Amino acid sequence: MKKVYLDNSATTRVSQEVLDAMLPFFTETYGNPSSLHTMGQEASAAVQKAREQVARAIGADAEEIIFTSCGTEADNLALVGTAYANRKKGNHIITSSIEHPAILRTCEFLEKEGFRVTYLPVDRYGMVSPADVEAAIRPETTLISVMAVNNEIGTIQPVREIGRIAKEHNVYFHSDAVQAVGKVPINVKKDDIDMLSLSGHKIHAPKGVGALYVKKGTRIQALIHGGGQERNMKSGTENVPGIVGLGQACEAAIRDFDKNTAHMKRLRDKLIEGLLKIDRVRLNGHPTIRSPNNVNVSFSFIEGESLVLFLDMSGIEASTGSACSSKNLKASHVLLACGLPPEEAHGSLRLTNCAFNTEDEIDYVLETLPGIVDRLRAMSPLYKEAARTTT
Ligand SMILES: *Cc1c(COP(=O)(O)O)cnc(C)c1O
Repeated sequence: MKKVYLDNSATTRVSQEVLDAMLPFFTETYGNPSSLHTMGQEASAAVQKAREQVARAIGADAEEIIFTSCGTEADNLALVGTAYANRKKGNHIITSSIEHPAILRTCEFLEKEGFRVTYLPVDRYGMVSPADVEAAIRPETTLISVMAVNNEIGTIQPVREIGRIAKEHNVYFHSDAVQAVGKVPINVKKDDIDMLSLSGHKIHAPKGVGALYVKKGTRIQALIHGGGQERNMKSGTENVPGIVGLGQACEAAIRDFDKNTAHMKRLRDKLIEGLLKIDRVRLNGHPTIRSPNNVNVSFSFIEGESLVLFLDMSGIEASTGSACSSKNLKASHVLLACGLPPEEAHGSLRLTNCAFNTEDEIDYVLETLPGIVDRLRAMSPLYKEAARTTT
């Protein structure tokens, strides 16, 4: 059976060049970067090279990169680390209602610890308003955290405007850019970002490695204590192969940015155009200000979960909302925040491409999906009722 993987916002395949870069660090140069001998120092040099590759991809300096175990840990470190380190200045944090659970659950934890959090609303396209950000700032605000690209609907947030506002008000600005690297231009200096999270497995590096950029001079404290690795910000022996992979993936993301984003956009737009021909379908997220790899649609009278299971039987791997929320059958918090009624927020299908997908694969989806929608609707008494009353 044909297999078409269109769930690249959940995770990506490790690219060959990333794998090739990593392999020697498992079996040949497996030293501990803290060791003084030659192999230890070779491992240490590899980590340093990766630090420079990651820094270059986002316009940072190498000393401003902290390697973490995942994007989630980077988000936790940014939020909890600055909340505690700046407690004397204030206890208020501003974020958006459409963040990844790595941000939302961490904010809920901080609320239990006595911090106050403002969850900003979004418009129908899932866009945060910079004016709302500014209006929410109080004297005791220490941090604003707004993601660069939403993982469910692909909406690109006005990061640069928010960064400028944060700077003017002397408040730290963190952005979860896990879905942005390699897909939309992002530069911590031009965008006035103080902290930025990224994750390996969303950009063709392996799972279990991420990074947090922390601007020099930012007051932040560690979550993990021990041997003092990563300038005391993330103790624990470095995941050398993973870090090398993340570095290589960042280098590739920047090197191939124009070619890859043009290709992803072509696939995205072809898919959207074809899907919008289906009866009673809506595109979720912003029509144009969206990630080049994201398609998110709702079909009235159909559960997203049924669509995902039927597509899987045809070899098409997709998801409903985010991978983290797809196991429980709750409606997407992102789509609800965009104002969709709960029954529509249940019916969403996310198809996320990458540079390795082909036009043929998109053709296959467009040949397969309409039949599945018809079959599922034929089982829905509500659809039959609605079809009778409107035609
Ligand atoms: C995947 C993702 C994360 C979590 O990254 P992990 O490396 O899986 O922990 C955080 N934020 C966003 C926007 C994501 O898409």
